Amino acid sequence: MVLELKQLFEIAGEVQTFEYELDLSEYELFSLHPFCSPVHVTGRVFNTAGVVELDYSVQFSMELPCDRCMDEFQSNYAFSFRNTLVAQNAADRDEYIEVPDFRLDLDELALSDILLHLPSKFLCSEDCQGLCPKCGANRNRTPCQCSEKEIDPRLAVLGELLK
Ligand SMILES: [Zn+2]
Ligand SMILES: [Zn+2]
Repeated sequence: MVLELKQLFEIAGEVQTFEYELDLSEYELFSLHPFCSPVHVTGRVFNTAGVVELDYSVQFSMELPCDRCMDEFQSNYAFSFRNTLVAQNAADRDEYIEVPDFRLDLDELALSDILLHLPSKFLCSEDCQGLCPKCGANRNRTPCQCSEKEIDPRLAVLGELLK
């Protein structure tokens, strides 16, 4: 969605609301298409005494393999963002979003805001047991017989030397 903001910039007190579904099903992340359902975007742009701000929230689901056990799982996310919009010459481009032609591509902004806020690790659950490094079994499902206390052969040699 592209927001037309000319009038909003010109009139103090002006408010514009929006709500739509953003389709990111084609978006590729880690060679996958993890946005399994449309992103629900809702928010408003408002002009308070000449300062234009954008307040919006996104809600979406993602389907990705767990970083520990590799099982695909789905999780829901909800983020809120606030950005200050300026017509031109932002001194600090990290803090303000420039809209020189009074048009804001909300799809592009929402995608970059979402990517910046995704967790760095995707875990199916906080206490996911992961895969056994020895036999490859998924420890959430199969408690394997591999010994936890097995000593690294190199350390075993060291142990012998220290005796
Ligand atoms: Zn897992
Ligand atoms: Zn094992």
